[in-house]
Amino acid sequence: MARRQHRRHQTYQEGQDEQHLRQLTLIRDLQEAVSERQLWMAYQPKVDVRSGKVIQFEALMRWQHPTLGFIPPDEFISLAERSGNIRILSRWMIDSVCAQLHEWQHQGHHLSAAINLSAEDVMDVDLPELLLETLNHYGLEPHQLGLEVTESAVMQDADLAAQSLEQLNQAGLFIAVDDFGTGYSSLAQLKRLPVHELKIDKSFVLNLNTQENDLTIVRSTIELGHNLGLRLVAEGVENQASATLLGQLGCDYLQGYWIAKPMPAYQVVDWLNDFEP
Ligand code: C2E
Ligand code: CA
Ligand code: CA
Ligand code: CA
Repeated sequence: MARRQHRRHQTYQEGQDEQHLRQLTLIRDLQEAVSERQLWMAYQPKVDVRSGKVIQFEALMRWQHPTLGFIPPDEFISLAERSGNIRILSRWMIDSVCAQLHEWQHQGHHLSAAINLSAEDVMDVDLPELLLETLNHYGLEPHQLGLEVTESAVMQDADLAAQSLEQLNQAGLFIAVDDFGTGYSSLAQLKRLPVHELKIDKSFVLNLNTQENDLTIVRSTIELGHNLGLRLVAEGVENQASATLLGQLGCDYLQGYWIAKPMPAYQVVDWLNDFEP
């Protein structure tokens, strides 16, 4: 018995060590990921419920590690945040997305993209200028870029965030609150921010058809958002039934596997031609 417990303990410890080693490896390798061209952006459409048209593509970061393979962003983004590497990634990402929009524009597709910002990006006083310069450099209009910020990112320093977002809003960028419903922001705080869009977190959307509670939350979030003059986006729409229900509830935009999974940039134009013939 004592021996079994010992073994179990060892196994747990080994698991911990392995996890720790993986984290250290990833943090070390993050610094090279940009220069070694291991990062790429995937694009997932948001569709207008009423017109059925694509209104924007959300840009989502991908990392193909040379030995560990595909690393999910939920893992490496938080490591980058904790190790002080997120600014490097965000700067690469902003340039990459704007360059891509420029390329699509060159091919005759005037598209818009939304990028995800971390708390540190929102607190970065140089960010507004960097975004505007990059847009300008690639010949893009400010309304072609949207920003998705989570409640927790904004709440780290609500004053600074409000100031920074206000500047970007004035310049014409669209701002969405991501993962809405999962954070701690109060409506009073939300009201202070120049927000255009609320994204209902996919945890409320995935089982919308079967979970009475989720339906109640989604219905009241849509009503609340509309009363505040905001557009509502549902993420995690995985089937026709959810899409229909969300339409009935008055949701403005849908995003999810039912419409399209995030795809590499080179597939976007073909996908668009099939979707909106
Ligand atoms: P998020 O911003 O909430 O993005 C939505 C996530 O849901 C994405 O996961 C997307 O692929 C996934 N998703 C989309 N449709 C469906 C669906 O119908 N069903 C399900 N089950 N999932 C769906 P992904 O790409 O793995 O990204 C995870 C998170 O990583 C993002 O959550 C975002 O918080 C973060 N992230 C991704 N790219 C970036 C980035 O460039 N910068 C920053 N700061 N964070 C990023
Ligand atoms: Ca997002
Ligand atoms: Ca989200
Ligand atoms: Ca999320």
